[in-house]
Amino acid sequence: MEWTEEAIDRLRAFWDEGLPTAEIGRRLGISKNAVVGKAHRLDLSARPSPIPTVEGRQSGQPSRAERRRPARASATSPARAAASPGSLLLPAAPPPQRVITCSWPLGDPGKPDFHFCDATALPSKPYCAAHAERAYVRVRDKREEAA
Ligand SMILES: [Zn+2]
Repeated sequence: MEWTEEAIDRLRAFWDEGLPTAEIGRRLGISKNAVVGKAHRLDLSARPSPIPTVEGRQSGQPSRAERRRPARASATSPARAAASPGSLLLPAAPPPQRVITCSWPLGDPGKPDFHFCDATALPSKPYCAAHAERAYVRVRDKREEAA
């Protein structure tokens, strides 16, 4: 096969049409490989080819690394003094749920029957629900009552 200018023009035309290389070869009377090779030499390879090049790009295994999460829960120790600056990035794991009892005083301090409420306190509050309500009455309400 001699690549005359006419043949090259036809190749370019077919190529631009997006014809399959095999079809171009059939029309030019040459092999598909000859078409591909010539097209490559003519730098025609940038045609909008609909052929998706499915290559083994997914060779990496990122999931394995992602799954390896730091098991912080098991490394909870009260070694705060030895905390390195780097550990400040992550707060220490929360302490085990401690049941805090209500510290609302009941009775007369100094008398034998004086004791604390001892009901289960609200989370982050020193009193149980009932006593927290009494402890945190808004001042405004008190003023209104007094008025
Ligand atoms: Zn209480």
